[in-house]
Amino acid sequence: MRHLCGLILILLTVTLSGGCLQQLNRDSLYQSSTLGALSEGIYDGETTIGELKKYGDTGIGTFNALDGEMIACEGRFYQVKYDGSVVEVDDGAKTPFALIKRFQPDRTLSGGSLNYSGLISYLDANLLTGNIFYAVKITGNFSYVKTRSVQRQKPPYPRLIDAVKNQSIFEFKNVRGTIVGFRFPDYAAGINMPGYHLHFISSDRKSGGHLLDCAMKNASIELDYSHDIYLIVPESGLFYKMKPQKDGKKELEQIEK
Ligand SMILES: [Zn+2]
Repeated sequence: MRHLCGLILILLTVTLSGGCLQQLNRDSLYQSSTLGALSEGIYDGETTIGELKKYGDTGIGTFNALDGEMIACEGRFYQVKYDGSVVEVDDGAKTPFALIKRFQPDRTLSGGSLNYSGLISYLDANLLTGNIFYAVKITGNFSYVKTRSVQRQKPPYPRLIDAVKNQSIFEFKNVRGTIVGFRFPDYAAGINMPGYHLHFISSDRKSGGHLLDCAMKNASIELDYSHDIYLIVPESGLFYKMKPQKDGKKELEQIEK
């Protein structure tokens, strides 16, 4: 009987500590590699989509060899290819750079009529603080959306600033869909681009990409606050040898905007 009590105590402890851990991780933002590494041309990673699914249902990124834009929405992962076509990716696909979160909105807003710069100002005006991480999800009708996708690269890989010179641009009018992405604080430069990084996918899952411009009316804007980030950096010689760029922030703005 004493043994049995001991066993029950151990099980309880394991369950309780497991519960705490789970709670801690449920609101974490998971990031695979850094935008700095991607901008240096580190386009192959070991993280699979199946792995990302463990950390969340909403996110953005790209695929190995820089093969298009990734958008995760409601637990499904999509690839917006260079030719604009969209496919749902299987769990075995790999990513060199991705950001994922279990989306749990802390604040819901309706911004009225907003263009891209209006959206950014509106979001900024409604933040809790500029110093934590945010996942953003915007659902509704868009009178205009401009996105881009990138072309699959061949090794030896060019730097991102050169790879995006051949990006394709897509424009959509009167489309229903979802924008998902993140806001990073200024102090996180190097890990990600300070400010907003947003991707778009249409409701019919037939179009999307990295968001460059948009216009919307009465969309539902959800903000998910996060105070912790789980960052995994590449186990590769290329990453070990990478040197920080002097004008990294300026270059990233050029690449992503
Ligand atoms: Zn992007």
